[in-house]
Amino acid sequence: MANTEQDPGNLMEAIVALAKRRGFVFQSSEIYGGINGFFDYGPLGAELKKNIRDCWWDDMVRRREDIVGIETSIIMHPKVWEASGHVAGFTDPLVDCKVSKQRFRADQLFFAAVIVDGKTIGYVSALESAATGAELQSAAEEFKRKKAVQGQLTPVQPRDMTEVTPDEIPLIPSPATGEPGSLTAPRSFNMMFQTNVGAMTDASSVAYLRPETAQGMFVDFKNVVDTGRVKLPFGIAQIGKSFRNEITPRNFIFRSREFEQMEMEYFIHEDADWAKCHREWIDWCRQWLGSIGLPESHLSEYNHPKEKLAFYSKGTTDIMFRFPFGVQELWGIAARGNYDLSQHAKVSGVPQEIFDEAAKKRFTPHVIEPAVGVDRIFLAVLCAAYAEEEVRDEKGGVEKRTVLRLNPRIAPVKVAVLPLLKNKPELTARAREIHGRLKRKYAVFYDEGGAIGRRYRRQDEIGTPWCVTIDFDTIEKDGSFTLRERDSMQQRRISEAELFALLDEKVY
Ligand code: ATP
Repeated sequence: MANTEQDPGNLMEAIVALAKRRGFVFQSSEIYGGINGFFDYGPLGAELKKNIRDCWWDDMVRRREDIVGIETSIIMHPKVWEASGHVAGFTDPLVDCKVSKQRFRADQLFFAAVIVDGKTIGYVSALESAATGAELQSAAEEFKRKKAVQGQLTPVQPRDMTEVTPDEIPLIPSPATGEPGSLTAPRSFNMMFQTNVGAMTDASSVAYLRPETAQGMFVDFKNVVDTGRVKLPFGIAQIGKSFRNEITPRNFIFRSREFEQMEMEYFIHEDADWAKCHREWIDWCRQWLGSIGLPESHLSEYNHPKEKLAFYSKGTTDIMFRFPFGVQELWGIAARGNYDLSQHAKVSGVPQEIFDEAAKKRFTPHVIEPAVGVDRIFLAVLCAAYAEEEVRDEKGGVEKRTVLRLNPRIAPVKVAVLPLLKNKPELTARAREIHGRLKRKYAVFYDEGGAIGRRYRRQDEIGTPWCVTIDFDTIEKDGSFTLRERDSMQQRRISEAELFALLDEKVY
């Protein structure tokens, strides 16, 4: 069994193609040409996404005694977003290309001066990618060649457009046209989607689609404390849709305009060791990612430098994932002090405090916030699971198989039930029977069409960990089936009780 190494660009293409072909992810409103930054999840995608959510909810909420779950509304009082700072500051720097009408996020548009023998002869630009530096270097070499300038080219020093000086702007080529002169200076762009509530469309009716779920937990903090019998330290968790008018949605579902978040606010005493708690949550998140099948080798951490943190932030660490298009943020774990609760106390006039029995005083708790996107985990899971291999077919020849090595916890189909032959009622009846019992607890699939080898391949491609084949031995001997494992492709006999025990152990 050989794994065919994939070029990262091709790998992404192959994953997007598989996602479409097998009904995981579709472009939203495709028959109308699609709408940029919005996606639909097909039958298998909806299952996979639900499994990711359910695993998180089970591990984060149900299996812990210190965390409760809530579900808050998407549209909240507009003052929430004033208090949280989103109205004033939830902005990204934006650069327009006046000729192509394209928009770029300034921090994702890189440029470099082309310097020959110490003299700047022009500029090159490139959009952020896994190879931005190399792209700019070869663009600079090309630029020098085209201008027929002799001399020593200094290695390029990439900067992004948030660092550009006013004099440089007219000289930097637009990535859309390749020509300088059309890019604007960076300006702030608020990413919240606005809407109006009620019949009037004026300033008084403006509301926002939430850009994060976190504020729901802060705004309901008092409600939960007063009704939930919670004691510090405790957490409030939520899963739900968030909306951001991203300037450049890209990399498939990595950055979209409508997405789903799983966030948890872990409230701690103001004197608690926040750094220790922060570290514990980073470790918890890494371990959880492992439990749904993301390999440690693809994970790393990025600590936001102190000077780039918001004034109230004590520290933020991102768990990074090695996507085919580069190492990118998967999960942010932020120590936010008591900024959010204090802000809501200030703007609403309602204190957001807890009574400290020992010290006999009231205080506003601090918070550690692990925040992750469901869609981003979904993509990470597909990237880590996708493989193309050369395997031996039944006749001993070599054939290619595409396989998704999804962890059984999140695989959309856990078991495929396959009667060996379609036209033998004794086989299909027994297969239907076991299928009926399995489906009361698990997502299973019944398939009687086509050669058994082809049926296995179909399941490999959608990540089904196990196939059970009902053959003549099943009905003539001890009732056991052939269990075929997706990853090893090995087959062994298994009884019905053993099959349920296997599922019970692996699917939790
Ligand atoms: P970025 O810097 O990439 O825009 P962020 O740091 O603003 O992201 P957070 O506000 O910390 O992101 O959001 C928490 C998590 O929500 C992210 O780690 C990511 O998993 C997910 N997320 C954020 N924005 C998007 C998006 N546009 N599409 C999909 N997932 C997103």
